[in-house]
Amino acid sequence: MTKMLITGARVLTPDALSAPFAEVLVEDGRIAAVLPPGTKVDDAARHDASNRLVIPGLVNGHTHGHGGLGKGVGDKWDLALLLAHAPWINGGRSVADKRLSTTLTAVEMLKKGCTAAFDLAFEPPCPTLDGLDAMAEAYAEVGLRAVLAPMVADLTFFEATPGLVESLPEAHRARAGGMRMASAEEILGVIGAAAKSWSHGGKGIRLGCAPTIPLHGSDAFLTGCRALSAEHGLPMQSHVAESRYQAAGGEIRYGGATLLEHMDRLGLVGPWFSVAHGVWLTQGDLELLAKRGGGLSHNPAANMRLASGLAPVRAAIRAGVTVGIGTDGSSSSDNQNMFEAMRLAAFASRLWEDAEDDDWLGTAETVRLATVGSSKLLGLEGGTIEPGKAADLALLDLAHVNWAPLNDAANQLVWTEDGSAVADVMIGGQWKLRDRKVLGLDEAKLARDAQEAADRLRGVNVEARAWCEELAPHVACHCRALAKGWTRSKRLLRAD
Ligand SMILES: [Zn+2]
Repeated sequence: MTKMLITGARVLTPDALSAPFAEVLVEDGRIAAVLPPGTKVDDAARHDASNRLVIPGLVNGHTHGHGGLGKGVGDKWDLALLLAHAPWINGGRSVADKRLSTTLTAVEMLKKGCTAAFDLAFEPPCPTLDGLDAMAEAYAEVGLRAVLAPMVADLTFFEATPGLVESLPEAHRARAGGMRMASAEEILGVIGAAAKSWSHGGKGIRLGCAPTIPLHGSDAFLTGCRALSAEHGLPMQSHVAESRYQAAGGEIRYGGATLLEHMDRLGLVGPWFSVAHGVWLTQGDLELLAKRGGGLSHNPAANMRLASGLAPVRAAIRAGVTVGIGTDGSSSSDNQNMFEAMRLAAFASRLWEDAEDDDWLGTAETVRLATVGSSKLLGLEGGTIEPGKAADLALLDLAHVNWAPLNDAANQLVWTEDGSAVADVMIGGQWKLRDRKVLGLDEAKLARDAQEAADRLRGVNVEARAWCEELAPHVACHCRALAKGWTRSKRLLRAD
């Protein structure tokens, strides 16, 4: 049976402002019609969704599947400290560990009402075909759609950050300065080979390309990433101006140009490209991004957790940038909860310097950013419950205390819901979550495997961790000094 009629539910309208009773006809993986209650459709299987609220699946504009095994590491870390600790957080992983980490991330997203994600996947020092296939298979097993973008760099954090190695105590300088990523040629070769052999498109998993942080790529490498993206149609995403020390480092490296201006000079910025975070983008950057048709994934949880700042989301929207919402990875935010991401995005918008209430993100607007907006970042056209759109739906239990009573659907999606009322999820017309259980996957075994892997990897990385912990205070000291030295003169304060 390829036709299903979801009956008895409230259905969120495309403007996200209300949720009247309606019936949703799903046919061949798409929404065929939204019908008045009680409409007869003779040849459709009926699915009783009484006391459910049907919403479009939330779309995660920015995450990292490899973060799944790293949730809850680190406390008072800013972004520079997270990067300084990355060698032990991500070190020593087998292909099975990479798949496991991505499975954990995908399962958490699914259980919390998310149906698609832009995943920047890290396999230092170089992506591998086996690793990319394993991570794509993890998404396929759980059933989420994804852009799986190898997160790559040909320079280490130490090479990339102006003055960092020189600032370290003598005892650490040689080791830090001697670390290397794989060569640009090798990394680009793997991505090109992956693009040619990619076999996961039929399952909704698309290959992308993610030069991780502009400072972490040589010009030749960044240009090479763009060439591959153009040749194979790979969506690109990069962490641009996430942290103030990076904005400062960019101006030093690029002769006064901003990070985004430099990427644009190299041809990276276009409709295929989105910025992750963008906390320290300038007004000029936002206008440039809009002019090129690029996007921005706003990830407020990570920006607060890592003390990066508040992204200029209203200014980006006013400039014409396509804006979505993301969680970021589990080693920096740490859950994969798009309801929380929406809530924090709306909250953070109220704290913007000099913000007036017309600058704040409203609740319906925030829902649309996390559905329609994020979908665009992934190159998907979904995000609303309308004929022709993919049947990617989350069904929320209106008997849950989060919805008792139902006063206003949009306000409660953003202010009240925390993912715990998500009961069922359909992706492409197929149930992937029913009664809060992931179909076709043993969640208890997944939890056991995760604990076994985390315990084993903690042992494998014990020496690397000790070294990172010795180094961390020096990294923090240097990067904070870089940030402080950066003037706010080019920074947007408020867009009018
Ligand atoms: Zn990230």
